[in-house]
Amino acid sequence: MAEFDLIRRLQQIICESPETRFKPVLGIGDDAAILEVPPEHQLVVTTDTLLEGTHFFSNTSPRDLGHKALAVNLSDLAAMGAEPAWFFLALTLPELNSGWLDEFALGIAGLASDSGIHLAGGDTTSGPLSVTITAMGLVEQGGALTRSGAVEGDLVAISGTLGDAALAVSLLQSGATPEKASLEALNHPEPRLELGQRLRGLATSCIDISDGLVADLGHILKQSGVGADIQLADLPFSEILENVGEAERWDYQLTGGDDYELCFTIAPTRLAEMERIMIDIGLPLTVIGRITHTEQLALKTPSGGVYHPAGRAYEHFALPIGGTS
Ligand code: ADP
Ligand code: MG
Repeated sequence: MAEFDLIRRLQQIICESPETRFKPVLGIGDDAAILEVPPEHQLVVTTDTLLEGTHFFSNTSPRDLGHKALAVNLSDLAAMGAEPAWFFLALTLPELNSGWLDEFALGIAGLASDSGIHLAGGDTTSGPLSVTITAMGLVEQGGALTRSGAVEGDLVAISGTLGDAALAVSLLQSGATPEKASLEALNHPEPRLELGQRLRGLATSCIDISDGLVADLGHILKQSGVGADIQLADLPFSEILENVGEAERWDYQLTGGDDYELCFTIAPTRLAEMERIMIDIGLPLTVIGRITHTEQLALKTPSGGVYHPAGRAYEHFALPIGGTS
């Protein structure tokens, strides 16, 4: 398989998904793409690389890899409240294997079609397996969500549940085989695109949880110049973590990462609007704490103590905000 055939194959599989809302003026096939940003809109752009051995295990299936490479980028667009429009795919492959490529492209195509994002170009090189996607979304002028708007008294909320993917990583690292549902959480995250867009004009700040709640909420706190009290008893978890001890579960939930849920803040007066969204989109949204003026993140145990999670993220982010991180 030659490079030209590879690009054509990707184009056939990924671009053949149903009409997307924002077709490129000029897509794959020229030296660069031409994209038209609709009037009164702004472009929201993000890029993320998945490198074999660092971001995914070598035995990850090509289909899961394709899905996840796009999902982590869409999760960033979701956190900004953007509507997906176009993406670029920079692929480094050790060899040109058409069976592998078709599976990989199908993994991307499913999510691209579901989220209405259009492949507009990319780059192909040979070398150690790595996938870099650049995703572009649209928001109305000034409408994007950011990390910097949380104020004292706001409620802190998250979507879905936390910790499932971290359990899978922990088991895989110890040579054990995680249950199917736990592996699914790790390999097949669903970016919360609809939620992100519905939170525009409602959330005062928003971030996607890729590095664990403590680290990512920590970014909101630092960039907003505030602190938070989080109630560990209120952290939602799925049945996957039901039989895991409390402290171990908290550690997966707080510092595990790979959740790709949204963490956001809202004024307490707007809680009913959040509940409306939860019903409309059928995704659990849970209030887990409150923004304080202390510039510290306090993790409160059910008995009223303060919890210090094991794990690296804690070292950097549970210190007073503005500390060593
Ligand atoms: P150039 O040499 O001018 O950079 P390329 O031969 O790399 O052009 O790319 C030709 C076309 O194919 C461009 O439109 C580019 O965006 C697209 N392309 C190359 N690799 C990929 C890829 N992995 N996925 C999608 N499009 C790609
Ligand atoms: Mg060129």
